Amino acid sequence: MLAREVLEELIRVLGRDNVLTEQEDLLTYAYDATAAMKHHKPDVVVAPLTTEQVADVVKIAMRYHVPIYTRGSGTNLSGGTIPIAGGIVLSMLNFNKILEVDQDNLTATVQPGVIIQTLNDEAAKYGLLYPPDPGTVTTATMGGSVSECSGGLRGLKYGVTKHYIMGLQIVLANGEVIRWGGKTVKNVTGYDLVALFTGAEGTLGIITEIIVKLIPAPEAHKSLLAVFDDLDKAGGAIAAIIRNKIIPATLEILDNVTIQTVENFVHAGLPMDAEAVLLCEVDGYKEVVQREAVLVEQILNDEGAVQVKIAKDDKERDLLWLARRSALPALAQKRPTTVLEDATVPRSKIPDMLKAIRSIATKHNLQIATFGHAGDGNLHPTILTDEREAEEMKRVHLAVDEIFETALALGGTLSGEHGIGIAKMKYLDREFGEAGVAALRRLKEALDPNYLLNPGKIVRRD
Ligand SMILES: Cc1cc2nc3c(=O)[nH]c(=O)nc-3n(C[C@H](O)[C@H](O)[C@H](O)COP(=O)(O)OP(=O)(O)OC[C@H]3O[C@@H](n4cnc5c(N)ncnc54)[C@H](O)[C@@H]3O)c2cc1C
Repeated sequence: MLAREVLEELIRVLGRDNVLTEQEDLLTYAYDATAAMKHHKPDVVVAPLTTEQVADVVKIAMRYHVPIYTRGSGTNLSGGTIPIAGGIVLSMLNFNKILEVDQDNLTATVQPGVIIQTLNDEAAKYGLLYPPDPGTVTTATMGGSVSECSGGLRGLKYGVTKHYIMGLQIVLANGEVIRWGGKTVKNVTGYDLVALFTGAEGTLGIITEIIVKLIPAPEAHKSLLAVFDDLDKAGGAIAAIIRNKIIPATLEILDNVTIQTVENFVHAGLPMDAEAVLLCEVDGYKEVVQREAVLVEQILNDEGAVQVKIAKDDKERDLLWLARRSALPALAQKRPTTVLEDATVPRSKIPDMLKAIRSIATKHNLQIATFGHAGDGNLHPTILTDEREAEEMKRVHLAVDEIFETALALGGTLSGEHGIGIAKMKYLDREFGEAGVAALRRLKEALDPNYLLNPGKIVRRD
């Protein structure tokens, strides 16, 4: 329960309209897109309009020792915005301006509440592109995406969010405002705080401005659909494409459960009886795209695809990618709870990971659909379950443990793009060891000694 003085101070700084305390409003902020997570209502939701107001909110929170959970669109998949200890949810959705597209320096400066697609629509007017492309590109904010270091469909060729963040304005836990990085291509002045805050999940400070790198938009693209009657062959084809030194912009896999569910959902013409399909897009200069598409088609055929189809126009292409982007919403219709993981392995280990997921599903008698950014080693095994079934949930937790153990044993990592949040905290020492987790904790304590910024995420007080 929040002290009356805290509310009064927040209203004084932000005005009554930007301070929400109605129970229905609070309930909306009690959860995020993560499945099977306990909901927690905050005591208050605030929506500042300026960096100065954010700094004032932080100072009030620190004075009264109240936790702050910064929130964009709440689409993260690791419980990252759940206000587990009550306190203040700080919505950044009012920070929705694109401040500049700088064609000479190939940068854009944006506020953190800007939706990723809105930035891309603006960049497109200048023939430019901001490549990070999570499935939620039309809903997720830039601040949330930087704080999760989102990946997405173009990771294979273009990398992920951290490769595009050049500068940040940050409100620190003591209310001070700092700027780090900028528009220079090179910058090695001091410790790299831009890198540290990218992927920090709101646990170290609050981002109020972002400078990103833009690239020239590719001139042409071609999308291919390859159908396989065997999941292992699909896994082998992914490795073969890379081995042949072709780096598609996107190389995604959908297994049979995903194909059937997605096809019923969007009717994109996916073959319902296929064991797996690969969706691939090559992009760049027209001549290069033409040549690479032919080479990829050849490799897919050599690797045993039963059919390879090249999208003949933008309509066909858009339908294929709509099918891919619909994977999670479509699967979410099958059972009440959809536990989506993002264990990631070196891409040469994709066939091993696919096999392991299949045998984990059989062992625990669970339905696991697998899809994901296979070309960059980032799979999304998705367990279709029902959180009300206690016995089944025990098997789900065992399966998740084994998925992570397998990924680590194959030289992979706990999270390719969805972050740690609450969901994966308990696994951290398996990847870093106790000394590694202690080092993370010391970093947290240096920047947020009272654990008031998104507490209970990534690392907990010892
Ligand atoms: C259907 C679906 C598909 C998805 N596909 C992908 C995908 O392909 N790739 C991928 O990487 N992710 C994916 N995600 C996860 C999610 O969409 C991304 O992590 C997204 O970038 C989060 O943005 P958001 O605005 O919703 O952030 P939120 O969920 O609101 O916040 C995420 C984290 O960032 C922190 N935060 C937010 N704003 C700030 C700020 N201004 N300053 C400091 N901290 C802040 C929060 O405290 C929280 O820890 C998917 C999610 C769903 C539901």
